[in-house]
Amino acid sequence: MTFNDRSIRCRDCGTTLTFSADEQGVSQGDLMNFETFNFDSSIMAGVRAIGYATPTPIQLQAIPPILQGRDVIGLAQTGTGKTAAFALPILQRLLHSQRGQVRAVIISPTRELTEQTWEAFSELGQKTGLRSIAIYGGVSIDRQIQKLRNGIEIAVACPGRLFDHMLRGTIDLSHLEVLVIDEADRMLDMGFLPDIQSILRCLIGQRQTLLFSATMPDDIRHLAQDILHDPVTVQIGRIMPATTVSHALYPVKQHLKTALLIELLRRTQTKSVLVFARTKYRTERVAQQLKRAGFRATSLQGDLSQPRRQAALDGFRSGAFKILVATDIAARGIDVLRISHVINYDMPESIDAYTNRIGRTGRVNRNGDALTFVTSVDAAMVDDLERILNVKLERRTLQGFDYNVSAPDRGYVRSTQQLRRHTVRNQRTGNN
Ligand code: AMP
Repeated sequence: MTFNDRSIRCRDCGTTLTFSADEQGVSQGDLMNFETFNFDSSIMAGVRAIGYATPTPIQLQAIPPILQGRDVIGLAQTGTGKTAAFALPILQRLLHSQRGQVRAVIISPTRELTEQTWEAFSELGQKTGLRSIAIYGGVSIDRQIQKLRNGIEIAVACPGRLFDHMLRGTIDLSHLEVLVIDEADRMLDMGFLPDIQSILRCLIGQRQTLLFSATMPDDIRHLAQDILHDPVTVQIGRIMPATTVSHALYPVKQHLKTALLIELLRRTQTKSVLVFARTKYRTERVAQQLKRAGFRATSLQGDLSQPRRQAALDGFRSGAFKILVATDIAARGIDVLRISHVINYDMPESIDAYTNRIGRTGRVNRNGDALTFVTSVDAAMVDDLERILNVKLERRTLQGFDYNVSAPDRGYVRSTQQLRRHTVRNQRTGNN
C-alpha cells in the first residue's frame, strides 16, 4: 500500500479493502475521510453505526457536488458504494427542512434494490428523525398509503407503484427537493422509461436531480440532457473485470448443464453461489434439481410473490440457502458480499448483462469466480466477451465428467410431458 492508498473495512464481511488514489480519481491533497464532508453529528452517528470508516471513490467524487446542490450524473454500478453517495447528502439536505412532506424520491428498478436503498436510508439516518418508505407493487397499497399519511420525508420507489400513488393522489410531490433516478440503464432495459417520463411530466417546480447508471445508452443520455441542469459527471471505472473476478468458460451440451452444475458444486469450495438462468421456468427447474440433489438452494424470479422473493433473499443473505438460482431481472441489486461464485448456467444476452451478473461477486474488491456454461450457440457472445475483457478466456473441462452422455430421446420427453399434462388435467377435473 502506498501513501496515497486508502483502505476501508467492509461492515458485512470484515475484509479490509484498499483503493489506490488512482482508483479514487483524486490527488493526495483531495483524500479525505467522512469528517471532511462536515455532515451533521446525527448523520455521522449513522455512518459510524453502519461501520463505514473511509469513503469509497464514488462517495469522494459525488458527495461534494451533491452537497452543493448540483445536479449529478453518477456513472457507477452497484457495489461501488453509490447508495451512500446520494443518501448521505440527501439526509444532510433534509435535516433542517420542514418535516411531514415527501422531499426526496429515489426511483429504483426492482423491489429488491428499493428495499436495500430504503434500508441504507434507515440505517444511515437512524439518528436524524427523518422517515422513509419503500414503495413497490405486489404488496398491499393500503399500508403504503397509511404510512404516507403519517408523514414521510424520503420515498424510495419502483416507478409503476409510484405512478399509481400519484394518479390516486395518495402521494404529494409538490414539496419535492431531490429526485434520484437510480440504475437508469436497468430501468430502460426493463421498459420503465415511459413510466419515468410520465412521473417526470407530473413534477413541477425546481429540484435537484441525480441520475446514476452503470452505462450510458443513447436513451439515457437524452433523458439526462432533458432533465438535468448543468450536471457534474462523476465516473467510477468498472471495478470488476480481471482484478477482482476470474472468468472461465465451461463448454457443455445443453442437456448436460444441470449434471455439470451439480458435479461442479460438489467438487468446488464455495461460499454463497449465485446461478443465473435465462427464463423463469428454467430458474425454477434448476433450483428444484439442485434441491433434489441435496443442495440448500432456492430461486428468485419475477413470478414469485413478494413474501417468497423476500424469503429467498433473506435466506440467501443469512446463509440458510447456499445457492440462489435467479433470472437477471430478479437478481438486480442483490447485495450479498459473501458470493464466491457466479455461475452462468445460461450465457447472458448482452455484455452489460454479463457485467452486471458477475458484478455480484468480487464486490468492493473481493475475489470471486465467474463460471459460464457455453454451448455452440454462444460462440458470438464469447468472442464479444473476450474482445471487451481483452483476454482469452480459459476453457475448462471437469475431469471425470462424462461429456458424452447423449440427449434424452425427444419422443420420450414428449410422451412424458403429454403424460404429465394428462395427469394434471385429470387432477383438475377430479378424474384421478
Ligand atoms: P452499493 O454500491 O451502494 O450497493 O454498496 C455496496 C456495499 O458497499 C454495501 O454493502 C454498502 O453497505 C457498502 N459500502 C458503501 N459505502 C461503504 C464505505 N464507505 N465503507 C465500507 N462499505 C461501504
